[in-house]
Amino acid sequence: MSDPAIRVLSVTSECAPLVKTGGLADVAGALPAALAGQGVEMRTLLPGYRAVLEALDGATPVARIPTLFGGPGRLLAGRAAGLDLLVVEAPHLFDRAGGPYLDTDGHDWPDNPERFAALARVAADIAAGRLGDWRPDLVHCHDWQAGLVPYYLRRDKTGVPSVLTIHNIAFQGLAPMARASGLGIVGADLDKEGVEYWGQVSMLKAGLVFADRLTTVSPTYAEELMTPDFGMGLDGVLRARRADLGGILNGIDLDAWSPGTDPEIRPYKTPRGKPANRAALRAELGLPEAPGPLCVVVSRLTEQKGLDLLLEALPRLLARGGQLAVLGSGAAALEGAFRAVDDPNVAVRIGYDEALSHRMIAGGDAILVPSRFEPCGLTQLYGLRYGTLPLVALTGGLADTVIPATPATMARRVATGIQFNPVTAEALGNALSRLCDLFAAPDLWSRMQRNAMAHPVGWGPSAAAYAALYADLTGET
Ligand code: ADP
Repeated sequence: MSDPAIRVLSVTSECAPLVKTGGLADVAGALPAALAGQGVEMRTLLPGYRAVLEALDGATPVARIPTLFGGPGRLLAGRAAGLDLLVVEAPHLFDRAGGPYLDTDGHDWPDNPERFAALARVAADIAAGRLGDWRPDLVHCHDWQAGLVPYYLRRDKTGVPSVLTIHNIAFQGLAPMARASGLGIVGADLDKEGVEYWGQVSMLKAGLVFADRLTTVSPTYAEELMTPDFGMGLDGVLRARRADLGGILNGIDLDAWSPGTDPEIRPYKTPRGKPANRAALRAELGLPEAPGPLCVVVSRLTEQKGLDLLLEALPRLLARGGQLAVLGSGAAALEGAFRAVDDPNVAVRIGYDEALSHRMIAGGDAILVPSRFEPCGLTQLYGLRYGTLPLVALTGGLADTVIPATPATMARRVATGIQFNPVTAEALGNALSRLCDLFAAPDLWSRMQRNAMAHPVGWGPSAAAYAALYADLTGET
């Protein structure tokens, strides 16, 4: 008889395709299926946002929760988008217009600490067997929104182990100290050794201190997080937990992202299929023919992503006959700066558009990711898969997933893209020039495209790494 599956509760504030603001949703949405073949039975706990409740197929109530941070709630079970879900229905916390974290004006919901403490409270109660019959062997927590789960599990003496994954340390889940007792954090736990962060409560730090193991989404980001430049004030906490911290790369969903079967594009299996997609993209975006590479960006428009540097370096690309197409949304200043670029060889689409993102990645010659920091990054992985060569900053997961073109890697026929360092406009401009040089050498370019398309970017190895971590923590090895 085969071993029984390890039961894992994944606790997350977003999960593709139901609710998504970034890569966290993609990862949370892909992990259950990726782990199913690895002896892991994963259920996903989500807040009952409107979109989630509407998507639930045949939800059954599991338990009533008489009081949950200011009102009653229920735990529901159901399926949606192929996922096995548990959902915290609590209208006073989650039934709102707007996004998961922001109101319709783009401001944080003022009660975000309590909203996600409620998610964590329910997770810990499920683990303790207080809500329904299903109990996990382990809880996998994602980012600050699930940061209080390890704390509650430890303080409730549930004995259920937890893993916390850091998808982006820039988001720390801060709350004024005065609200700590309302969040259920008391006594010495409020000290510097506990959840205190510069006079406030950090829900992420609660997870970093109390989870049994910590992971982040690339080996390089794991190392970077332990340095003052990248740790955002939590590098000391992470250095203290060095032995428990590791990096496991994200994969991408190959059902959604495969150029041979993608319904949004003219499907192709070799780089020979790309020019038809490029022509279609140029037509769609109103770009003329051009002698240089068509570079694309699909990104949140924030400081992190380094796109202000791209604006500075852009003349270097245009001077070589290259083009730029940008799809993104975010900070008003960056949106405005991109909108203001007035050049026939630049196309800018402000907004969030999943279908267009597929056509851009299929139609582009290169994808640009000049991030100042990047925990893993997904769009460079899409680029590899689609033969759209990534030009990336040498940081985080970008360093771990792109094999830069050097004489040695070109000779060994393994190069898949271009990396630049330091992350400055000048270095980016030099990298764009190098990209244009390679593009002008069709044999080299198509060799790199084939290398890129052959590079493994699926979940296989990473799912195995998570399964091994769970087995280790639950004593199943
Ligand atoms: P982050 O999580 O920091 O935003 P990632 O690269 O890890 O960055 O993930 C971003 C995800 O969001 C990718 O799946 C990317 O394709 C998608 N995305 C970002 N901006 C847009 C947009 N404007 N339209 C469509 N998809 C987008």
